[in-house]
Amino acid sequence: MPRARDPRTIAAANGVGSDTAFGAVTPPLHLSTTYLFEGFEREGSYAYSRTANPTRDQLADTLAKLEGGAGAVVTSSGMAAVDLVLARVEPGRLVVAPHDCYGGTYRLLAARAERRQFEIAFVNQSDPAAVAQALERGPALLLIETPSNPLMRVVDIRALSALAKAAGAKVAVDNTFLSPALQQPISLGADYVIHSTTKYLNGHSDVVGGAVIAADPADVEALTAWANMTGVTGSPFDAYMILRGVRTLFPRIERQQQNAAAVAAFLDAHPAVRVVHYPGLASHPGHKIASAQQSGFGAMLSFDLAGGAEAARKVVESVQVFSLAESLGGVESLVAHPATMTHVGMGPEARAIAGIGDGLLRLSVGLESEADLLADLAQALETLA
Ligand code: PLP
Repeated sequence: MPRARDPRTIAAANGVGSDTAFGAVTPPLHLSTTYLFEGFEREGSYAYSRTANPTRDQLADTLAKLEGGAGAVVTSSGMAAVDLVLARVEPGRLVVAPHDCYGGTYRLLAARAERRQFEIAFVNQSDPAAVAQALERGPALLLIETPSNPLMRVVDIRALSALAKAAGAKVAVDNTFLSPALQQPISLGADYVIHSTTKYLNGHSDVVGGAVIAADPADVEALTAWANMTGVTGSPFDAYMILRGVRTLFPRIERQQQNAAAVAAFLDAHPAVRVVHYPGLASHPGHKIASAQQSGFGAMLSFDLAGGAEAARKVVESVQVFSLAESLGGVESLVAHPATMTHVGMGPEARAIAGIGDGLLRLSVGLESEADLLADLAQALETLA
């Protein structure tokens, strides 16, 4: 048996040299929407790009290997990936989701439930009693987001998956915040892994994309068929760009998380900051679980300013290296104000329940020099003195 390849090797080189037409080292970009039949009633390996495309398949194969799944479906966005998993839930069944999940996911779940496509229970997944109560209702799907967006709450994927399986539910983990470089939910018991490939997998803030990786080949088949029916598959050009980003996933995220650790330590010691949410800090409530189930703490963090909304406004207006923008996972550092940006769709009540205050800022820490990042935050926080 050939030796199993290290994930770093898969990320850097899966599919390299596989071109049979010209021996291209980099797998080529196949833009053609349609493919020749080999003859009457004889379809070749590809027929039509919504259904299957060689460039998209190259990305799907790489993501499936990185996540340890049986296969993957590449979608046009992270939201399309979430919706593809939801499409497998039978009408009338229950979906259990985190009460502090990504705002767009929250909005989609609430809207589909309102149209009676399924029932939804938003639950604090760090509260064992609340999880147990929700699982007693016999859900079809448990959706997990860890670390959560934007509060970086960490839940135990292995423990929750075991409980969900015992209750007959499938488990989907949104792994966008860490990527398979730092967390592999299927090895911890998940059935599906969801990605917004827009973030770390692409890593350059120039493509919107998504993917679902499934542990079971039957689920891969069902997801593939549904994605073809609904047409949510990603474009070949986007797949090419995302695969290009995946090549450098490990060195990018490892360097970015070093910067994030330095930023978290700096903010943690600053008097204007009430609390820093970064699982790498020993004081973070999820530090122990994160240390066990992740191979790094990632490059996302958030912090609450003692001065509330006004302080948050001053900081985002003062930073120069960090850019005020939504999204995350790119090589450049971004700052976002969840209450008015990423999580505005949740509404004030749901935000209050989730603990997302008006003084909360979220950082996606990039590849700039650590000294420049710290100096930028120091001068921005100085405006609050
Ligand atoms: N899941 C998480 C955790 C996200 O942060 C996002 C986007 O920010 C999404 C899903 C949605 O992804 P996309 O914007 O690619 O549709």
